[in-house]
Amino acid sequence: MKRAFSYWESAHVIGPIDTLIVGGGIVGLSAALRRCEMDSNERVVIVERDALSGGGSTKNAGFACFGSPSELLSDLRQMSRDEVIELIRKRWRGLQGLRKLVGDREMDYRLTGGIELFRSEEDALSSACLESIVELNSLMEDAIGQSPFETLAPEELEHFGFQGFSVAINNTLEGSINTGKMYSTLRSMALEAGVLILNGLTATGFSLEGDDVELHTDSGSLRASRLLISTNGFARELLPELDVSPGRNLVLLTEPIPELQWEGTFHMQEGYVYFRNVENRILIGGARHLDASWNDTSSSPPSEVRAHLESLLNRNILPFRAAKITHSWMGYLGIGMKKTILSGKLSPRVGYTVRMGGMGVAIGNAAGSALADMID
Ligand SMILES: Cc1cc2nc3c(=O)[nH]c(=O)nc-3n(C[C@H](O)[C@H](O)[C@H](O)COP(=O)(O)OP(=O)(O)OC[C@H]3O[C@@H](n4cnc5c(N)ncnc54)[C@H](O)[C@@H]3O)c2cc1C
Repeated sequence: MKRAFSYWESAHVIGPIDTLIVGGGIVGLSAALRRCEMDSNERVVIVERDALSGGGSTKNAGFACFGSPSELLSDLRQMSRDEVIELIRKRWRGLQGLRKLVGDREMDYRLTGGIELFRSEEDALSSACLESIVELNSLMEDAIGQSPFETLAPEELEHFGFQGFSVAINNTLEGSINTGKMYSTLRSMALEAGVLILNGLTATGFSLEGDDVELHTDSGSLRASRLLISTNGFARELLPELDVSPGRNLVLLTEPIPELQWEGTFHMQEGYVYFRNVENRILIGGARHLDASWNDTSSSPPSEVRAHLESLLNRNILPFRAAKITHSWMGYLGIGMKKTILSGKLSPRVGYTVRMGGMGVAIGNAAGSALADMID
């Protein structure tokens, strides 16, 4: 027999529902919080497939970033200068908004700087970035009124104990957060505002029923006055026409390294690889450029991806000491042809906001609020 919620469940435990949100990541939680702020009597329910969140929101690296030199040069090849400025501004303002909402202390926000590192064999890319520093600072001036890029002298790089890096460019305004604390705070705020979060429930489709929307799930159907979809990389499961795919990312974390002297967030290889200090462990992840089937959600990345990350860790980042990997996990980005948020209305009662790329820490909260505002 088809699974169905009982009358008690749908009428008195879960509903009656005003706003249903599919996806309990940063965007879904932010949309829920915004709906409660608009009307504290509104019944808001989030349907989330995972135990916590199955995409990027609890799996990410916690970079509070808004543009490394090679990333911006790549953006300038694909978008107009004005579009790049707009994206930087969104990321920058989004970060300020997240800091205000969650609080720096609550999510361990640190203004560490974000350093892009180039190995000796990456000369062409490092030269292009060095030659463009003035232009990139002027781009930042136009976007946020500050010039954050500066090169690090070789002796400034020395105290990190790295090996094989010839050029380093710092974005002095980037920082880091504790991803777990940020998510936990957002989730607590939503629960306190009265949001019901139904974990372990998968949405399989939806239909418009008179003035209502019916959401079909693997445990039965739910009715609501409005439906907001924030499933990011997985959005095509419900909205197959959208240009967004899940991009898998492997993350490795070492055992604690008591003698680790540095803090900071580091980007490499056009942002495909990233690493940082997390509570005196090294977190390293990415290398999606070596993963030919990066959008396959049914399997793990090929062994070359892990081997590449481990090789960078052992040869370049921590060359004088072996460190055991104690944790590894996978997360999913939402990626499409364009590096912009994909947002729209399917009817006056159904809206979506997806495709956060690798920028969701910065833009996710503002994107969620805008999604909530989209539907009356
Ligand atoms: C490894 C990794 C590192 C990253 N590092 C950074 C970083 O350092 N800085 C940064 O700014 N960004 C980073 N990102 C990106 C950032 O995490 C994402 O952009 C952000 O979390 C997106 O939030 P979201 O709410 O849109 O999507 P998600 O967090 O992906 O949430 C979508 C949710 O929808 C749920 N869902 C999907 N389909 C269904 C369904 N049918 N029914 C019910 N639920 C469903 C999923 O389980 C998921 O929880 C990283 C991402 C990854 C994967």
